[in-house]
Parts: sequence; C-alpha cells; structure tokens
Amino acid sequence: MSEFNLIAQYFTRNTKHADLGVGDDAALLRVAQGQQLAISADMLVAGTHFFHDAAAYHIGWKSLAVNISDMAAMGAQPKWATLAIALPEVNEPWLAEFSKGFFACADAFNVDLIGGDTTKGPLTLSIQIMGEVPTGKAIQRSGAKAGDDIWVSGMIGSAALGLAHFQGKVTLAEPTSSHCLAALNTPTPRVALGLALRGVANSCIDISDGLTADLSHILKASNLGAKLALENIHCDDYLRTHLNDSNIQQCILAGGDDYELLFTAPKSQRDYLHQLSQQLQLPLSLIGETTPQLALIITHHQQTLDISKKGFDHFG
Ligand code: ADP
Ligand code: MG
Repeated sequence: MSEFNLIAQYFTRNTKHADLGVGDDAALLRVAQGQQLAISADMLVAGTHFFHDAAAYHIGWKSLAVNISDMAAMGAQPKWATLAIALPEVNEPWLAEFSKGFFACADAFNVDLIGGDTTKGPLTLSIQIMGEVPTGKAIQRSGAKAGDDIWVSGMIGSAALGLAHFQGKVTLAEPTSSHCLAALNTPTPRVALGLALRGVANSCIDISDGLTADLSHILKASNLGAKLALENIHCDDYLRTHLNDSNIQQCILAGGDDYELLFTAPKSQRDYLHQLSQQLQLPLSLIGETTPQLALIITHHQQTLDISKKGFDHFG
C-alpha cells in the first residue's frame, strides 16, 4: 500500500472547520475575529507512553484525547488537529483500529484532522491540536490568587489504579476494573468544563503527570503554596475505602493520566461551581486552598502526609 493510499484510506475525512484539509501541501483554516489561536502538541512513543501491544483503538483515542485535554485546560474550544505518525510497517488491521479510535475521539469533540505526516519508523505519534479562545480569556497557570479554592474534576486515581490492575499489581473486581481501565485507555477530556471556567477560574491545568506535580506547576507559576485535604477528593469507591493505604494515596496524588482539570477559583464562585457540577453531571471536588506560604501541605483527616517521596511506581 502506498503512503498516498494509506493517508487517503485511514486519515482523510471531511472537515467542518477548515477551508482545506488533508491532500494539499498545507491546510487552510480561519480563526474567527476576536479569538486567539491556542496551539499545543504532545508526542507519544510506543514503549514509553503506551505499551507496544496496547489496543490500536485505545492508542488512537488517547493520543488525541490527551491533546484535546490541553485545550480544555486553557478554556479553549478545540477545532483542528494534525497527526504525524511513524509506523514500523503498514499493518492495515492496526491502522483501521487506530483511525477508528482517533476519529471516534475527533467526532466526540468536534475536531477536524487537517493534515500531518506519515513515515516509516518506530511507532511514534505526534499530534498538534489547535483551538480558539476569545482574546484575553484563556485560563493560564499563572493566574491563581492567594486564598483561591482549589478544585478538581472527576474521579482522581482511577487511571493509575487501572494501570496497576493491568500490570497485575492489584486485582480489581467489576465494576471497578472496567471503570478504571476505561479511565486509563479512553480518558474523557473536560472540554465543556474548561469552556465554563472562562472568567470563573483564576488558573487551570489538566492532570497528566499527577495531581501534586501538576498543582505544583500552578503554584510555581503563581508564586503560591497550598493546603489540600485528601479526604475531600472524589474518587472511585475502591480508592476511597483504601484511602489510608500509601499506595492508594500515591495513585491519587502522583498517579497521573487522569486528564481531569485542576483549577483555582475565588470562594465567591462556589455556588456557581456546585451548579455547574450538576449541570455537567461531573463531580467537582473542593480539595483545598492556595496560600501565600510557598509550601504544599497535604492532610488526610488532619494528619499531614509525607509527600517527599515522589514515587511513580505504584504498588511497586
Ligand atoms: P508533503 O510531501 O507535501 O509533505 P505528504 O505526502 O506528506 O505531503 O502529505 C500529503 C497530505 O496528507 C498533506 O495534506 C498532509 O498534511 C496529509 N497527511 C500526511 N500524513 C497524514 C496523517 N498521518 N494524518 C493526516 N494527514 C496526513
Ligand atoms: Mg510530508
């Protein structure tokens, strides 16, 4: 199969937001007046970011989802993506499943694939996502104010628990196992939440590396510290019943791969955010507040946790 046919068969679809998509030397798109173009890229390498034998559908979904998540974290509306892919061989069943997963995510979030590059090499995916945000309204990491509430969306720790289950380090029963594996393999970027946080949140980030690591990016950029109460976090029942276990605490605080939004907002936004949680049918947990003192202090029922050991090897 020629490269040209491969692109035509697996990566060419009609576009909704572009004047010209795949097929020419460049795509053409228009940014609406009064909007800024938000751009982000993420690269995924087989063996590093996913297992070599991971399901192609999941790789397709997740590689786009993690990029869309960056748009959500900025309060931007994702619109366009490019896909650069290195393939060790032309494996059509693999490509069919990969593109199915990729376009399922693209359709779910109304994103056009407008171009890319295809080459031979160790399986690697580099995706660039582009979106729009009204000028000056993007939610940056640096905007947190001392005394802001700290909020997090969804169920934290499930993806890390799913990975531990997949690796046989823990054995989960249904429905926990299905739910945690879905969190790991087909994360849902929180686009609607990100849009609703414009003008509400002072700062925002998506959780890819782990809650404390990503919170630290906000704190560093905003020159603040924080206090967090672990028991206030919304999580899967399994995690909640084992909240005393340090492995479980690690899953929640350092697990990563959650692709939930972590954001800070003035206390005056509490009513709005509780309503928004109902409206989006998405848990929003109020887990702490930012402080002028630079330290990050995490407690579990008033007991301070030792978070100095920055391990990522859950159940290691
Ligand atoms: P060029 O030689 O000009 O770089 P290519 O042959 O690499 O063009 O690509 C042809 C067209 O297919 C271009 O529009 C490019 O953006 C698109 N394209 C190539 N690979 C992919 C891919 N994996 N996904 C989406 N579009 C792709
Ligand atoms: Mg090319």
